[in-house]
Amino acid sequence: MAKVVAIVNQKGGVGKTTTCVNLAAALKDKGARVLLCDFDPQANATSGMGVDKTRSNGVYDVLINGVETEKVLVRTPYGDVLPSSKALAGAGVEMIDLEGRQFLLKRALDQVADGYDFIFIDCPPSLELLTLNALCAADTLLVPLQGEYYALEGLSDLMGTVRIVRRGLNPKLEIEGVLLTMFDGRTNLAIQVAQEIKRFFPGKVYSTVIPRNIRLSEAPSHGKPINAYDRTCRGAEAYNAVAEEFLKKNPLEKEEG
Ligand code: ADP
Ligand code: MG
Repeated sequence: MAKVVAIVNQKGGVGKTTTCVNLAAALKDKGARVLLCDFDPQANATSGMGVDKTRSNGVYDVLINGVETEKVLVRTPYGDVLPSSKALAGAGVEMIDLEGRQFLLKRALDQVADGYDFIFIDCPPSLELLTLNALCAADTLLVPLQGEYYALEGLSDLMGTVRIVRRGLNPKLEIEGVLLTMFDGRTNLAIQVAQEIKRFFPGKVYSTVIPRNIRLSEAPSHGKPINAYDRTCRGAEAYNAVAEEFLKKNPLEKEEG
């Protein structure tokens, strides 16, 4: 069974999608069987993996129309993708009347979880029903934080939501890790913020930090993860190092036989 990791932070522009695409691709590169589930109606992770986000309604059809997950999966050289689309923007409202509305994504992923080591969910920038579905489907959360003075702002809302989810809907939900993104380690401010974040999440902050790297922002327009676009740039090296840290905590099971 796959370990399901939701990449969450209700703030936009902190590097969720960049982390989801590039961590998934780096792990695939290292032999892991990965599925990226794009759960943001903007569908940037879908296109970032080189998948046409207008080709199907993707995960929306699984949640709302009962289509089998397997039928909308797309295989790419960088890992499998459960695509998103604009249609997902309406799903939050459409789900309200459905039975077990918090668990629709979990049911969708359970159908295919046997085929993967890791499933990464790219969450939208909110804490509403879509993200709640991701929190209920996940074993762990990976929180990207931008290394700036307001990085911790809003985190208490996220952690409050996590506590509520743990109380009933998903008691086993854990923090996988906290990743500092777009980090400029040359400034005192960034170093102070990093220390503060480590105090807030003892033992959970990845020792790798993701630097600001123009290549990371260029790669999506080529429909490629960074390791396929420019595998020697600093951004690629950083995500590769995060993947190694991730695998240390979550070793791949050796193939039988
Ligand atoms: P989110 O999914 O949290 O909204 P994104 O991953 O889409 O954030 O990142 C926001 C923007 O910043 C995107 O244009 C992305 O290409 C860019 N970006 C993300 N990480 C980096 C980085 N380390 N260096 C430079 N640009 C980055
Ligand atoms: Mg995003």
